[in-house]
Amino acid sequence: MKRRDFIKTSLSAAAIAAGASGCRELPKDPKLSHEKKSFHYNRGKRVKIKLATSWPANFPIMGEGIERFATRLTQMSGGSIEVKVFPKNVLVPALGVFDATSAGAIDAYHSAAYYYKGKNEAFNLFTGFPFGMTAQEMNAWLDWGDGMKLWRELYAKYNLVPFKGGNTGVQMGGWFKKEIKSLDDLKGLKMRIPGLGGEVFAKLGVKPTLLPAGEIYVALERNVLDATEWLGPSLDTKMGFHKVAKYYYTGWHEPGSMLSLVFNKKKFDKLSDEQKLMIEIASQELNATMLSQFQLENARQLKVVEAAGVKIDQLPSDVLKAAKKAMLEVADEKSKKSADFKRVWENAWAFLELNKKWTEIGLEKYLEIR
Ligand code: CA
Repeated sequence: MKRRDFIKTSLSAAAIAAGASGCRELPKDPKLSHEKKSFHYNRGKRVKIKLATSWPANFPIMGEGIERFATRLTQMSGGSIEVKVFPKNVLVPALGVFDATSAGAIDAYHSAAYYYKGKNEAFNLFTGFPFGMTAQEMNAWLDWGDGMKLWRELYAKYNLVPFKGGNTGVQMGGWFKKEIKSLDDLKGLKMRIPGLGGEVFAKLGVKPTLLPAGEIYVALERNVLDATEWLGPSLDTKMGFHKVAKYYYTGWHEPGSMLSLVFNKKKFDKLSDEQKLMIEIASQELNATMLSQFQLENARQLKVVEAAGVKIDQLPSDVLKAAKKAMLEVADEKSKKSADFKRVWENAWAFLELNKKWTEIGLEKYLEIR
């Protein structure tokens, strides 16, 4: 059989297997392409992109990921797009990247949306939320639901165009120096925990503290902090937390945190359609490979955590129950204050509700028997 005939036969067989009506109901096109008009190729156009990150130089996985994105984009564009990556504090401070890109002082950045919640509470939700979506569900919301549409609409007001910038996967609940046996043990606890997770824990009596990355270990060692979250075994062991805290609780507050890759809109709009598409595709690759790298590194470093005699456990059920209730209160309060938060929250919540059942029937049941 000729190759073309083989493909034709295979495709029609696949269509029959899937059921013709089922196929038609599938979404036709992911909401990924920036524009759907016909392409105007412009291979001769060359552009340089100055991209700043919120990470230190040579930062594992996240920093490596954005460096790889830059290299791959230059390679696949045959040099038509040249991206130069600058670690934090070289061009702008770690958390100055949003404003610098918005103003056009730099062309792009790699960071996380929830760091900028002070500008707009809705930004929290493009990173994720406690008891919210897994990485897989977050991808589905952004690719096939309204997630990316809402993100782009909102960021356009700030002269920005966001893309998926990689996902950490489920994060651990954090390191505690003392065992948490019930809700009472959280009262007055000093913990480094940012974002919505921090606001939820604050309602449970925790005193959320924000410390620069370089100061957390010492604060924990000297009991200035009683607990800290960071990410998962992959990066937590590099911080040395397993040496000073012996209780490591499983995740609840960052179930699939999405990083953001964001371009200045004026600069982005001037690119050729071909260049825009290459950025879109390179972002998808960055997103997928960062998640798979976190998976493997977490698995490897979990052995280091276990070897250190750390007790890994789930937080007590009264804590989790109270935290879940507090999350809904936090969302309710923010919805009353911010129309943007309300709009994005309602959309994300409905998407989560739709997907929950399938994730339970599909993945969760499988994991129970594996
Ligand atoms: Ca974290």
